[in-house]
Amino acid sequence: VKITCRLCPHFCGLDEGQTGLCRARANKNGEIVSLNYGRVTALALDPIEKKPLKRFMPGRNILSVGSFGCNLRCPFCQNSSISMAGCEVGGEVFSPERLVDMAVKQTARGNVGLAYTYNEPLVGYEFVRDCAALIKKAGLKNVLVTNGMINSGPWHELLPLIDAANVDLKGFSQEFYDFVGGDFKTVKQFIEAAAGKIHLEVTTLIIPGKNDGEAEMGELAGWLAELGGDIPLHISRFFPQYNLSDLPPTPLSVIDRLVETAREHLRFVYRGNC
Ligand code: SF4
Repeated sequence: VKITCRLCPHFCGLDEGQTGLCRARANKNGEIVSLNYGRVTALALDPIEKKPLKRFMPGRNILSVGSFGCNLRCPFCQNSSISMAGCEVGGEVFSPERLVDMAVKQTARGNVGLAYTYNEPLVGYEFVRDCAALIKKAGLKNVLVTNGMINSGPWHELLPLIDAANVDLKGFSQEFYDFVGGDFKTVKQFIEAAAGKIHLEVTTLIIPGKNDGEAEMGELAGWLAELGGDIPLHISRFFPQYNLSDLPPTPLSVIDRLVETAREHLRFVYRGNC
């Protein structure tokens, strides 16, 4: 029997044994299951600024965990070896208890909690939720680094467990979201739901000739400003990789111009990858 995964706006209709577009969820015995639950492909104690979060517990570290799978198909992906992969990448299996125990032990090295990052963490929704509940109980912080492309029901359920997030706002039009295989409206709603409830920062990677217009940046920054709360914006430089390896890096002059544009609306605007 075909069943529908309702986690993200792709609403994959999956036959028995079939895997969704994100490669992290499948129909098994008539149920949608998470294939990447506890499968850790990357684990590191990173400075929190690297997430990037500039204005949340600066100077501290955060234990950062990744798995596999993603529900976007950005041709400029920086982590394609895990985000575009499925079960074949393997990964060591961790229980939430083991990972949280590790996070607690790392507090001796300046760790403040657990960051869900590297691939798109929300396609492994259940693992994030289960770890986040234990991290909260341990008095530590949950940080999400996400594309923000999940439906509002699951996001509203998870939100009370999250302390801070950096959301990748890929561009500011459905046209750009068509380019990366996503839904602009869902990402905007995701950011709106989080604004004012958690510490929120936003990152936009500037792809030459695709989302580098001043008018688009003005609209994006103006919209973020309207949400209030002085949301920091990271305007990041693209370097050639994955399926856009023939494109030049974003000129620094373009980043500088867009930072100036964004600063007309926002107090905290940072250059990324520069
Ligand atoms: S989370 Fe994955 S399986 Fe579910 S709808 Fe989105 S892409 Fe499809």
